[in-house]
Amino acid sequence: MDKKFQWNAWYFLLAFSLLLMFQGWWSERQAVEPIAYSEFLKLLKDGKLSELSINNQQISGKLLEPINNRSSFVTNRVDPALAEELAASGAKFTAVRENTLVANLLSWLLPLVLIFAFWSFLFRRLTDKQGGLGGLVSVGKSKAKVYVERDTGVTFDDVAGIDEAKAELEEIVSFLKDQPKYSRLGARIPKGILLVGPPGTGKTLVAKAVAGEAGVPFFSISGSEFVEMFVGVGAARVRDLFEQARKAAPCIIFIDELDALGKMRGVGAFGGNDEKEQTLNQLLAELDGFDPREGVVLLAATNRPEILDPALLRAGRFDRQIVVDRPDRKGRVAILKVHIKRIQAAAEVDLVQVAGITPGFTGADLANLINEAAITATRRGAEQVSMDDFTRAVERIVAGAERRGRLLLPHEREVVAYHEMGHALAASSLPGMDPVHKVSIIPRSIGALGYTLQRPTDDRFLITLGELKNRMVVLLAGRAAEQLLFGEISTGAADDLAKVTDIARQIVTRFGMSADLGQAVLERQSNSFLGDNLIAMREKDYSEQTAREIDLAVRQLIDKAYRRAGEVLQQRRAELDEGARLLLERETITPEDFPPLRPERTAGAQ
Ligand code: ADP
Ligand code: MG
Ligand code: ZN
Repeated sequence: MDKKFQWNAWYFLLAFSLLLMFQGWWSERQAVEPIAYSEFLKLLKDGKLSELSINNQQISGKLLEPINNRSSFVTNRVDPALAEELAASGAKFTAVRENTLVANLLSWLLPLVLIFAFWSFLFRRLTDKQGGLGGLVSVGKSKAKVYVERDTGVTFDDVAGIDEAKAELEEIVSFLKDQPKYSRLGARIPKGILLVGPPGTGKTLVAKAVAGEAGVPFFSISGSEFVEMFVGVGAARVRDLFEQARKAAPCIIFIDELDALGKMRGVGAFGGNDEKEQTLNQLLAELDGFDPREGVVLLAATNRPEILDPALLRAGRFDRQIVVDRPDRKGRVAILKVHIKRIQAAAEVDLVQVAGITPGFTGADLANLINEAAITATRRGAEQVSMDDFTRAVERIVAGAERRGRLLLPHEREVVAYHEMGHALAASSLPGMDPVHKVSIIPRSIGALGYTLQRPTDDRFLITLGELKNRMVVLLAGRAAEQLLFGEISTGAADDLAKVTDIARQIVTRFGMSADLGQAVLERQSNSFLGDNLIAMREKDYSEQTAREIDLAVRQLIDKAYRRAGEVLQQRRAELDEGARLLLERETITPEDFPPLRPERTAGAQ
């Protein structure tokens, strides 16, 4: 609730009670000093009174002969029965009126105060729910909400695996540290720096590290906080943010999730949004109006650069982009090293090996992995986190938690065992496939009834057509095994088929690898970090004829891969039976338990 408004209300209450008190005091003063009731009775008996007027507390009237220069009197009434007795006793007696002023005031004021307090409580609750921006009364007052950290406590040592981004940001740090030197030479530091990369790669972290390294305050605000209910609030906040930062220079302004506020104007599901547009316009105005020589460095982060308004990325605004990408294997080792300090890890834990089985993991994933491993070890009641805990944690993250409670019919288990063994044997038969690490028929929480875990040896950047085709064979070998053994196929392969279809389509439309369609790229890869399907509104810029050819080529690729999968398994039929039997017996097997899964057996090559 607004302070000012609250004060006004209190002033009002105060004035009101003063008025009441004054009124009470005034009426008291007007009143004549009452005379004793016994005296009144005496005067009455002597017939010295006239014009009596009576209410239920007092009796007043005129004195026929003035007493002490007074011609009128007042007396407080006494209970008649009591009065009679008292008069008989001849004592002097007076009724005393209680002073009811304070009680009166309270009976007026107390309910008022209570109602007011209750109302302001409700009001505060309401505004808190609406993001605590101060609600109806204090539009645009963002002072308290701008989040400033005097010392972020994060340094470049806490950030690993993104060395290129760090190297580029070093320059900013030295600018912030030695600002006069830079401005003397007239050097211009980039106005706005945009950190671009998938979620969890450490963008927020590295921005804080810049502030920590330079020892300057860190003003941060998240784009999503600008989604407010009143038009104009966001814009006022942006203004406030820059104003405060200028006063604190040198410092860093960090706008997280810039995409939430910097969406292209006039697009999106709900059309234009006045509020966002105003906020964005204000941001653009501030960007233009501010001079980096003042010592304020502007950083922003997004994982969806493709939806940002082009005006934001223009020269002189966020004109430098730094990509913060998923770490490679070496980077993963470095990140693991940073985070492993937090837990009690056994000496045998080999981080290089852990990095090897976590391709595609981001920094946040790795931090989470270490935590999971520690949880697993705790559950086990162990003193230290072992290598085995790490492997389990990876499996948990990749395949989901085990669900031993899910009961499969005996026949279903058999089908699953052959299916998984099919994948595993195909993977160990074909060259260039990631070695099989583990095969299991323990159901996992993420849909799978069983799984085959392949452990990549290296990060791959280039994949040949032959390898892509082999991958398709491995994916289809599950269903091929079912067909081979039972002469019937099941729904268990749905997931595999989706993946196979993806690969086949990409071979044809993205990589230009189909002989029939040639080297043309028919579908562009969107540069969204969140995967292609989110922006599935790509335009089809080829003919119906080509569309049909694509479908045919895709089908042909899949058919061929399925046939090869059948052939591979036919050749290793005996091993398939033995492996499935072992799997049914032990539920989980590794290449150590079943040597045919070892990769060196490269039979049916391409
Ligand atoms: P982003 O902002 O890119 O989505 P964050 O910076 O919020 O990701 O990262 C979340 C957490 O993941 C960090 O607090 C940190 O613990 C961990 N993390 C992410 N990237 C890294 C990295 N490169 N080095 C060390 N830790 C990292
Ligand atoms: Mg972030
Ligand atoms: Zn499968």
